Amino acid sequence: MAPTGSSAAPEELKLRIQRLIDSNPVLVFSKSFCPFCKKVKELFSAMDIDIHVVELDLLEEGSNMQNVLQEMTGQKTVPSVFVNKAHLGGCDKTVQVMRFLTLSEMLRDRLLYFFSLLRGGGGGGGFYCLQEAANLGRKVLVLDYVVPTPMGATWGLGGTCVNVGCIPKKLMHQAAILGQGLSDSRKFGWEFGEKVHHNWGKMKEAIQNYIGSLNWGYRVALRDKKVTYTNSYAEFLEAHKIKATNKRGKVTFHSAEKFIIATGERPRYLNIPGDKEYCITSDDLFSLSYCPKKTLVVGASYVALECAGFLCSLGLDVTVMVRSIFLRGFDQEMAGKVGAYMESHGVKFLKKYVPTKIEQLEAGTPGRLKVTARATTSTEVIDAEYNTVLIAVGRDACTKYIGLEKIGIHLNEKNGKILVDNEERSNVPYVFAIGDVIDGKPELTPVAIHAGKLLARRLYAGSTMKCDYVNICTTVFTPLEYGCCGLSEENAIALYGEEHIEVYHSMFWPLEWTVPGRTKNGCYGKVICAKLDHSRVVGFHVLGPNAGEITQGFGAAMKCGMTKDQLNSVIGIHPTCAEVFTTMETTKRSGVDISKKGGC
Ligand code: FAD
Ligand code: NAP
Repeated sequence: MAPTGSSAAPEELKLRIQRLIDSNPVLVFSKSFCPFCKKVKELFSAMDIDIHVVELDLLEEGSNMQNVLQEMTGQKTVPSVFVNKAHLGGCDKTVQVMRFLTLSEMLRDRLLYFFSLLRGGGGGGGFYCLQEAANLGRKVLVLDYVVPTPMGATWGLGGTCVNVGCIPKKLMHQAAILGQGLSDSRKFGWEFGEKVHHNWGKMKEAIQNYIGSLNWGYRVALRDKKVTYTNSYAEFLEAHKIKATNKRGKVTFHSAEKFIIATGERPRYLNIPGDKEYCITSDDLFSLSYCPKKTLVVGASYVALECAGFLCSLGLDVTVMVRSIFLRGFDQEMAGKVGAYMESHGVKFLKKYVPTKIEQLEAGTPGRLKVTARATTSTEVIDAEYNTVLIAVGRDACTKYIGLEKIGIHLNEKNGKILVDNEERSNVPYVFAIGDVIDGKPELTPVAIHAGKLLARRLYAGSTMKCDYVNICTTVFTPLEYGCCGLSEENAIALYGEEHIEVYHSMFWPLEWTVPGRTKNGCYGKVICAKLDHSRVVGFHVLGPNAGEITQGFGAAMKCGMTKDQLNSVIGIHPTCAEVFTTMETTKRSGVDISKKGGC
């Protein structure tokens, strides 16, 4: 029973209550006649858990204590339950929490819940972070929910990468490469009918079937790790509490000690007449049931150029509308070469235009659309007809409708992304964020995965290792792939000064391209070295087949601080494209001709 006492000042009562909280693993402020208090006490008793009960109605100071409790917790009613020095709440909250975990776990100072808002599947931060947390013995709940696109597309577990990003994109890129291989193969003696046709429906179905198998795999993996998965939309209601709404509108409430936000991003629209009604985004493209035919792609970065590239290689008439430059943020010499190769490959570019209106001329699959656009450098207005308009003008962080304002999370006001420190912790100490939703970090699947795993290990395995966001390799999967690691030439000059860097470069002609007579000097590589730092390689760029495969290994060497001398000491593998980096002697400064006369 609780101590009694004579009339005491509120400050003294507060101290007394605090002492009770500090010295009792489970503390229940109750009233002896209250049925809800009775329910809570019976619940603990049924679980064989010792609790300390303070029956306020039996104390002289009871009602004053209740007022002080309200001041301390915001809750006036009883029961008022404290576990491990933290205020849990009243009857409903206690019952709800107990439904999910055993109190003995709470008492062992394990987290109550470990919610991922809301990343489920493979490829991204949430899934791997939560799996790792589950591996480390934590109780984990994943909430993952896909809001359908305006066209109605939706998908399964796994997030962007698996369903509407890296995986279907790379597979469609592969479909395109095979088409090129078909025409090359004639030169190598393969004979087949003149007319070659690509079947969009077959490709789409095969890729979607594969994605279906991945969705299933993620579900099984979560089940095996005993991670609870709920297909519900989550939003914060108050500190440590979220509301989850499933697709039938059923609402549940959950509390947790820690939260990981990994809600990713969704495609941005143009906010012009007709965009949401008639246009598609990458969220629709990969599951499109019909061939998009003559397509306008709006945008000029990763998503736009990759999609334009494979659509053109599949034989479609493709135009890209470019507002300003190609691949903002990338080395602009390389970006120019990516664009030039695409142009030579058949992609048309409308440079320095933005769309202003989309009108439907005819409904259908695909129908016919009229696009009106204006020049960015003059008053010129143009229009043209397309079957499909693919908007790829960037992606917005999913931070708007998840109640972050209710718990005071700080965002970058310009882009709505979550501000985190170098341990992925937001300004609210129990909320962490990883992946595309955080500010200022590369939006790439392996980045989200790596950061997620390390976060789980720091939180639950005593690790101190932080995610190193420097020298992360990436590849743009355009018809000719562009891989890079480290600084662009522009950024290297800005950082070190032009006189303190040396750029070594070379064109190359893949041996495989020689017999079919493909572009002799389309492929290019360069390394950027910091002269005052032992000619350390600070930028690596390659434009050629399989650039992603090439870049990965050199990226590892750059992580180890590779210098140009060390690179020179590497004996190449012949005949490959990558070997060009082991023999790169010509500096850009010299102006010497770097075009290749023979293969490799
Ligand atoms: P996501 O994978 O987007 O996962 C977020 C999940 O949270 C989604 O399932 C979402 O539906 C869910 N969610 C959002 N809000 C809520 C809510 N309130 N409640 C419940 N659930 C919610 N990266 C590469 O490394 N290589 C590539 O080749 C590549 N290609 C790409 C191609 C395209 C077309 C696109 C669009 C992206 C590509 N990316 C690529 C980027 C990569 O997909 C992302 O960086 C990665 O998926 C980010 O993972 P994430 O965990 O942060 O978010
Ligand atoms: P992004 O990199 O933000 O590029 C947006 C593009 O749209 C830019 O070219 C931009 O032009 C243009 N744009 C913006 N607003 C426009 C408007 N109103 N009208 C016309 N054009 C407009 O976006 P993203 O290509 O969607 O890529 C998003 C992220 O996904 C990337 O950062 C990347 O990390 C990830 N991703 C990775 C891969 C990969 O690893 N291979 C592939 C795809 C995506 P300006 O230059 O003029 O601003």
